[in-house]
Amino acid sequence: MKKIIDKLAATQTLEKEELLYLLSNTDQNSNEYLFSKARYVAKQQFNDQIYLRGLIELSNYCKCDCLYCGIRRSNKMAERYRLTPEEVLDCCEIGHNLGFRTFVLQGGEDCHFSDDIIVSMITSIKSAYPDSAITLSLGEKSKASYQSYFKAGADRYLLRHETADPTHYAKLHPKSQTLQTRMKCLYDLKSIGYQVGTGFMVGSPYQTLDNLVSDLLFIQEFQPHMVGVGPFLPHHDTPFGHHEKGSMELTLLMIAILRLMIPNLLIPSTTALGTIKPTGREQGILAGANVIMPNLSPTNVREKYLLYDNKISTGQEAAEGVIDLRNRMQTLGYQIPVSRGDFRPTDPHSNLQPVDPHGCTRPLCSSLYPPTERSSYHVQSSI
Ligand code: SAH
Repeated sequence: MKKIIDKLAATQTLEKEELLYLLSNTDQNSNEYLFSKARYVAKQQFNDQIYLRGLIELSNYCKCDCLYCGIRRSNKMAERYRLTPEEVLDCCEIGHNLGFRTFVLQGGEDCHFSDDIIVSMITSIKSAYPDSAITLSLGEKSKASYQSYFKAGADRYLLRHETADPTHYAKLHPKSQTLQTRMKCLYDLKSIGYQVGTGFMVGSPYQTLDNLVSDLLFIQEFQPHMVGVGPFLPHHDTPFGHHEKGSMELTLLMIAILRLMIPNLLIPSTTALGTIKPTGREQGILAGANVIMPNLSPTNVREKYLLYDNKISTGQEAAEGVIDLRNRMQTLGYQIPVSRGDFRPTDPHSNLQPVDPHGCTRPLCSSLYPPTERSSYHVQSSI
């Protein structure tokens, strides 16, 4: 086991069989060995820093019907809300005063938010806070829409692939939502020049270890800038309300493997990890994550953006909350800088890491993933 972990740390890659072996034969000793290696790499890459992102939950209206998600269209029990552009700007003001320099606008796929409205929101945030980055997480859109947001100043986009296996994807979503469309969106985003985040749930219904290996291999292939991984947590008003929740240990294992696979990857220690266990987010950091996303949404809407039961809204948005978070991170040996916390491309002169993590020339995993425009992908010059 140690040999496989050493190989991963030294070469950043493992074969499918080795990954499966790693996931199937875990024990406390090898986990601790893996976590300490991942932690070491994260500390080196990010100089003991943890980046903050302020999460603003724009709307819980959604036209999608993902079977796992509490804000799915068919959930008639969900009390719907959407923020006004003024409320979003207020959240940014509070966040900026607290030292946040990235705002993540996340929401359901809400048709009310036309491209014009989103573009004007991006423009006004950027003109008020030109030193801050904007991350969008608004689901599947046309390439033209993604382009218009990028042109308006959006820097990053989060869109989890959820599972890289098309059969598994079909078990988690209605027929109208396909992995193919999701993958097209991800490649569109990358070709436009966004810093792109993807990710998946651990322990989603019907998931196998083989599926998780496919997720890791897809990520190795796609080379995103960010990856969000969290345990699946049931929501009582969804078809998966009676399914088991995912495992925290396995989630931590995924974080650590990803850290070794792509050393400079931005990996959040997710809200779902903090929900499954009070110390979950600290444990995520100790397994190699380097980003925390406290909630900046107005407090009266937080319980309405309920993707799963018991979702935490820790109050870490308040001034004392951020101070408390800084102290907790300091206790673990980390600092939280006032910084955008952008993705930094790997130094091409270092022989410890892949020379060009985004210039992957190997054939793509399957025909599902369009090999379009990857060569035209560029990292924004502002980074
Ligand atoms: N509409 C946006 C935001 C979706 S919610 C988009 O499509 O990207 C953000 C993420 O929460 C989802 O990608 C999913 O991975 C996660 N999520 C949703 N329901 C969940 C659940 N029940 N348990 C754990 N994570 C969940």
